[in-house]
Amino acid sequence: MVESVGVSKSFGSNQVLKSISLTVLPAEVLCIVGPSGSGKSTFLRCINHLETIDSGRLSVDGQLVGYRQKGDKLYELKPKEAALQRRDIGMVFQRFNLFPHMTALENVIEAPMRVKGVPKSQAVARAEELLTRVGLGDKGDHYPAHLSGGQQQRVAIARALAMEPKLMLFDEPTSALDPELVGEVLDVMKELAKSGMTMIVVTHEMGFAREVADSLVFMDGGVVVESGDPREVLANPQHQRTQAFLSKVL
Ligand code: ATP
Ligand code: MG
Repeated sequence: MVESVGVSKSFGSNQVLKSISLTVLPAEVLCIVGPSGSGKSTFLRCINHLETIDSGRLSVDGQLVGYRQKGDKLYELKPKEAALQRRDIGMVFQRFNLFPHMTALENVIEAPMRVKGVPKSQAVARAEELLTRVGLGDKGDHYPAHLSGGQQQRVAIARALAMEPKLMLFDEPTSALDPELVGEVLDVMKELAKSGMTMIVVTHEMGFAREVADSLVFMDGGVVVESGDPREVLANPQHQRTQAFLSKVL
């Protein structure tokens, strides 16, 4: 579903991603962990084409991200084509970025109606299903300010799912939450993983990684230092940098 081959990215003279190669198969969950500044968010943003890569190849569901290939030439996608590609990828951020002036339900129906032209009655029915799925069936008419952080984050997940994405990207979805609210969001993510969604999750929640992920990547300084079965990597890290990082977070 996601294939990254030698992906590199610099901001000015700061090389943030240094030849990142990894593969995520359909229905797999990949967790990415690593210290602050190691390039995790930048990598997710490249997958979503919010950043362009300098070299390497990045594809989602067999399509090059941001480019079209004709023969052996690459053509950059036009903004409209890029937007079409991006709408198949759901993203949930650390900060719940719901529209504050819209209810939970209105947040969930907004993109399907505006971007896909789904009729309102159909969008509402689907949104109610999704809100129920994330445990918020009775909160559709609440504004974000009247929801807890954990509830807001679950609305954000429902909102992303409303676009029927092929792939979900999560960038530290629980790290802005009070500790007692982390579990409810992780439970929703766990259910989503069970349902067969392909997911890439940047997180510091090692319990989630151990239990839910099919593979774990440890990034440091823009490189994949170590990757593999999460239980293996967490129990028996091979590299000194992985060991040092895990000794701080475990
Ligand atoms: P954290 O755990 O703190 O979220 P991260 O692993 O997600 O860190 P990134 O946000 O990907 O790290 O940042 C990696 C590096 O890229 C940092 O040095 C950061 O300053 C730099 N960087 C990120 N975005 C930009 C940008 N738009 N312009 C310039 N530099 C950037
Ligand atoms: Mg980040």
